[in-house]
Amino acid sequence: MTTQRIRDFLATRRPDGPCLVVDLDVISDNFHAFRHAMPDSAIYYAVKANPAPEVLKLLAGLGSNFDCASVAEIEMALEAGATAARISFGNTIKKERDVARAHALGVSLFAVDSHEEVEKISRAAPGARVFCRVLTDGEGAEWPLSRKFGCVPQMAVDVLVYAHQLGLQSYGVSFHVGSQMTKVDAWDLALADAKRVFVSLAKQGIHLQMVNMGGGFPTKYLRDVPSAEAYGKSIYQALRTHFGNQIPQTIIEPGRGMVGNAGVIKAEVVLISKKSDNDDARWVFLDIGKFGGLAETMDEAIRYPIRTDHDGDEMEPCVIAGPTCDSADVLYEKNLYPLPISLSIGDEVLIEGTGAYTTTYSAVAFNGFEPLKAYVI
Ligand SMILES: *Cc1c(COP(=O)(O)O)cnc(C)c1O
Repeated sequence: MTTQRIRDFLATRRPDGPCLVVDLDVISDNFHAFRHAMPDSAIYYAVKANPAPEVLKLLAGLGSNFDCASVAEIEMALEAGATAARISFGNTIKKERDVARAHALGVSLFAVDSHEEVEKISRAAPGARVFCRVLTDGEGAEWPLSRKFGCVPQMAVDVLVYAHQLGLQSYGVSFHVGSQMTKVDAWDLALADAKRVFVSLAKQGIHLQMVNMGGGFPTKYLRDVPSAEAYGKSIYQALRTHFGNQIPQTIIEPGRGMVGNAGVIKAEVVLISKKSDNDDARWVFLDIGKFGGLAETMDEAIRYPIRTDHDGDEMEPCVIAGPTCDSADVLYEKNLYPLPISLSIGDEVLIEGTGAYTTTYSAVAFNGFEPLKAYVI
């Protein structure tokens, strides 16, 4: 959403070139909405969604914890004012020396999904708390997470028993239902799996304490999405169904849902052309594309709202592409994107819902194009 503050910033500063403008007030509102919707869950912001120092500082000040995937992200969270006790090293794929560095920095909560990773943590962070990630099917997510992370629940049981044997504190279970999850009941099956892992371990005298329910909370692109409140209600119902009156500690790790709608990219139309005289669709080339930060348009998965000064004029389906010399740098072609016929070369456009997963995906200098500039206001 383009807030008045973002409009004012763009109107007065008139930054040249494509840039992201992030409104901290929106992030603050999102944080409060999550806290209100899920008052019993600790919030661990997924740093990779937008690691701008101003964003991390705001969230640290509001009381957020942080889900980090690397030592660099851990250092950023510490720099922003979080203590090590508020940081989770949530990547299941870590170098042993990075585990040791995190441990030296005071981090004591680590994700695992294999026996091999447990061994690294037992050596490099002895006595630490570990949670095991279980696979979910990602069904219903617009940006699903594949089988890369997690193991089947039965293996999670073995992994956590092994962690216990190696002197670690087997602490809990985690999952991620898939990003941009628009079904509020998607957590139910994963919580049923989590409960089964709890029960199996309890039979062996190991008492887990925590369920990390991951991210997946959506941001509004073209279609409306359910509110944080609706997710909170549905997740609470699922917790009650599966855990009864023994609901464990819970964590949520919103990334996209925390920052997505807080950012707007200002871009410019570089060229509008056709491929033949009788071509049906105009090609609209912007000064930002897949390599400038819009990587989530891969397979046309995420469809961003694009605003122009001509909205309301007659529309026509267009191909939208980026400025680089890579032929993969096409944003929308299979599914043409309606833009005003009056849109012309040199016009500015606003790409909304771009606060998450844009600056971090932007290439360093592909074809000499600068990485995406960001202004946090
Ligand atoms: C990326 C990630 C998140 C954030 O996911 P969103 O769908 O953006 O909310 C949360 N947890 C982990 C472990 C992640 O890797």
